[in-house]
Amino acid sequence: MKQKDKSKREFNNSQTPSPLRDAGSAKAEDKRAAFTLSSFLRPNIASLKPYSSARDEFSGADALFFDANENPFNAPYNRYPDPYQQELKKKIGDLKGVNPKNIFLGNGSDEAIDLLFRAFCIPGKDNVVSIDPTYGMYQVCADINDVEVKRVLLTPDFELDADALLNAVNENTKMIFICSPNNPTANCFVEQEIVRVIDGFNGIVVVDEAYIDFAPDKSLLKKPVNYPNLVILQTFSKAWGVAAIRLGMAFATEEIISVLSKIKYPYNVNILTQQKALELLENEEQKQKWVDTILKEKRRLTVAFEKNPLIKKIYPSDANFLLVKVEKPVDVYNFMVDRKLIIRDRSKVALCEGCLRITVGTAEENNRLIEALKSSPL
Ligand SMILES: *Cc1c(COP(=O)(O)O)cnc(C)c1O
Repeated sequence: MKQKDKSKREFNNSQTPSPLRDAGSAKAEDKRAAFTLSSFLRPNIASLKPYSSARDEFSGADALFFDANENPFNAPYNRYPDPYQQELKKKIGDLKGVNPKNIFLGNGSDEAIDLLFRAFCIPGKDNVVSIDPTYGMYQVCADINDVEVKRVLLTPDFELDADALLNAVNENTKMIFICSPNNPTANCFVEQEIVRVIDGFNGIVVVDEAYIDFAPDKSLLKKPVNYPNLVILQTFSKAWGVAAIRLGMAFATEEIISVLSKIKYPYNVNILTQQKALELLENEEQKQKWVDTILKEKRRLTVAFEKNPLIKKIYPSDANFLLVKVEKPVDVYNFMVDRKLIIRDRSKVALCEGCLRITVGTAEENNRLIEALKSSPL
């Protein structure tokens, strides 16, 4: 496959290359080298001159700031925060073995999802391909941005079918969304199958690893291979225990990260969030202890559910929740709600007939859940 001339920046959309990469004999590395981001960027984003904040221009220590019309009192909250969260990115980079230049931080991973749509998809024209069932935010962000989602069903046992995903791609497909471990099905996908999608698609592949701390061996992030078209999403909302501070991460090539950084709100991660995250990162063992406890509790819940005749099936889980099948999901859900035990009814979701999604709680919380399910007359 011929290398594209990178010096020629053509943002005319009619020049978009074929959406599928040559499935022939070309080596995966050659195909990766042939990927050119510029042909996937929206023209208005490619030519955008980003807002230049006062703190962009100077951020040296012990300077006196008369540049941003801030209040001189009430330090440190009086000052605008670092727009690039450099200290935080360095800490996260150290922890994950990633260069800070390959990290984007946002107001939850939801911000990264939205920015990806805004960077790559022309409203009313472009589309994305997504597995189904999966996390609801991809569809919501697509709808807000007036972008069509082509949904491709997982196999009946919730596996990823790379060929089916690639078959759904057309000339206006800009991104493919994969979530692994997947929400609500709870399983990770076979890595070779994900890589086949990444190598076979001439566009952005987003792999959402929100639950990967519960199955760290299955992360794509630790791989030495650098995929030019891969964006990995992770979050502080699950294993790190701080859904409330809203902090999500995206890992990708420097080129993709610089696009996201260019179009984000200048101060998208506030100082309270940055400080709290830095504090958490000082104590990774705490997160690990939570993960271990949650996994132990998940096994205990599984054993209890296996003994419960109400539960017909427990799906394999790589996450901090269990997807279970029951005969009357709505009745079970309502029975639990009446006892102030709130679970998630997923029975109307594709392939999930009869399914309820149950998050693993503390030992005491899980005991109440187990007892209530046992006492159900259903
Ligand atoms: C919970 C979850 C997230 C987290 O989103 P944040 O905005 O970071 O809180 C992302 N993706 C999936 C699939 C999730 O289930």
